[in-house]
Order: sequence, then C-alpha cells, then structure tokens
Amino acid sequence: MKLATVNDNGNIKAGMIIGDEFVCCVEGEGADMAVLSVIRTGDVASWDAIIDTAERRDLADVQILAPIPHLIRDMVCVGKNYYAHAKEFFDSGFDATQKETIPSEPIIFTKAMTSLIGPNDAIDASIDPTDSVDYEGELGVIISKTARRVAKADWQDYVFGYVIINDVTSRELQKKHNQWTIGKGLDTFGPMGPYIVTKDEIDDLPSMQIQTLVNDEVRQQAEIRDLIFDIPTLIETLTLTGTLLAGDVIATGTPVGVGIGFTPPKFLKSGDVVIINVTGLGSLTNPVI
Ligand code: MG
Repeated sequence: MKLATVNDNGNIKAGMIIGDEFVCCVEGEGADMAVLSVIRTGDVASWDAIIDTAERRDLADVQILAPIPHLIRDMVCVGKNYYAHAKEFFDSGFDATQKETIPSEPIIFTKAMTSLIGPNDAIDASIDPTDSVDYEGELGVIISKTARRVAKADWQDYVFGYVIINDVTSRELQKKHNQWTIGKGLDTFGPMGPYIVTKDEIDDLPSMQIQTLVNDEVRQQAEIRDLIFDIPTLIETLTLTGTLLAGDVIATGTPVGVGIGFTPPKFLKSGDVVIINVTGLGSLTNPVI
C-alpha cells in the first residue's frame, strides 16, 4: 500500500495512491494526522476495506504533500553511510569531523522537523547565506512502534514502510558549526515523499536502486546493499540505549555523487530541479528557488 496526504483544492485528505489516482480514506478534521494514525495502529486493513467505494481523484488534480505533514520530532539521520560517499566527503574538505574516512560506528544526527517540505515544494536556496546548497538522495525508514533494545534479527517488526528523503545540506554551515544541526536544518531543506510504501510491498530491499538527478543529469546511482551500516544495524544501534517511536523517520544516508564530490563543487542554484527515484518508492521532485 502507498499512503499519501494531499491538498485537494484547500481540503487536506489522506489515503492511498493506486496507479494514477488518489483514493481518499480520510478527509476533514484530522486528515493531516491520518497517515501517522495508521502507522501507530497498523490498521491498514480499514483503508483497504473501502478501496472500492472511496472517492477517487486524478493525481494531476491534487497536490501531494509530505505523507506525514507534521513529523512527531526531528528526523534521525545517518552520516557517511555509503563507502564511496564517505570517501568523497572526507576528501572534499567539508568534513569538519575529519576523524576517519570510513566510520567504524554509525554517525547519527538529527534533521529539524521544521525543514520538512513535500513533493514539488521549492527548496529555498536563498536561505543559505553561504551559497553551498547540496542534495542527498536517501532511503527513509518509517518506524511502526515503540522500539527499545531491538535485536538485529527482529528489525522488521519495527518497520512500517519506506519513503524517499532529500537530506538537503548547506555544506559551508555544516563545516563551520562542526555539529550538523544548523547545516542540515534550514527551512525547506527536508523534502519527503511522494508516499510511504508499506514494507509488505518491498520484495528485495538490498537490490533497490537509488538515483538522484539534477536537471536530468544523473548524479547519484547506487543500491541499498551498498550501505555501510544496514537498516537492522541502525535500528539495533539506535535502540540499544534510546527509544524509537511510531512515526519516527530514519534517513539512512546518501551514496556517492553529491555536489561536493565534484571539482569544483556543483552546488544547487535557483532554477535547478532535483529528482530522486527509488525502486518501488516513486519519484521525489523539488525545484530550487
Ligand atoms: Mg544525509
């Protein structure tokens, strides 16, 4: 199932994407929280049950929003989690941590929930005074229930589904402030969407392809199997001492091919369009202004 939240001529609606149509399951008050509610209850069956009778809208006639329009808290993110990207970041001179090329333990940070935008919303590069805006195509994991001390073998029990995330970053701010909170947390720097795909629809996670294009030029192309720390390891690590909650989002890291991997760096500028495609998860498009 593909869960989405849309704006239909000013009315927020939640439901499913089927083919080229949006199937409305919840509208009116609370619709903006309905996808989160399904994640928390796990009750996808009640939406499935009304599939034949629910109102349908052509996708071209609605605006797709971030599937969880109000995150419960900042996104959990993983840094330097693909081998070739870890090396390109280390070599770029923008890695203020500069401890090791390939991390020996997962690098965890958070990305401000207030940075969230949906598909086709604009990334506002003018907010970055340093003009060093970079893209990071990533696989996002949606947590299904409270998770503490999760053993690797049990990881799937705590995953609801997957979504595409662009971990947009100001490289100069990331470097200048050492910690990444400011450089990753700029308003509009958190595109997510177009929908959450439930885990049952994913047959072969490691083989899924992640691809990022800027103005139709392929910049990133990798498989999820290339992750240094895989999703079971990330969930085990994050819950060994802390707690993940239903509706939490983990951005698992970006592959090689970000703007600072080029000489000179290829930073995003007004007029660019970033498209991230992930096998089975659709396509996340955002213009830059
Ligand atoms: Mg990232």
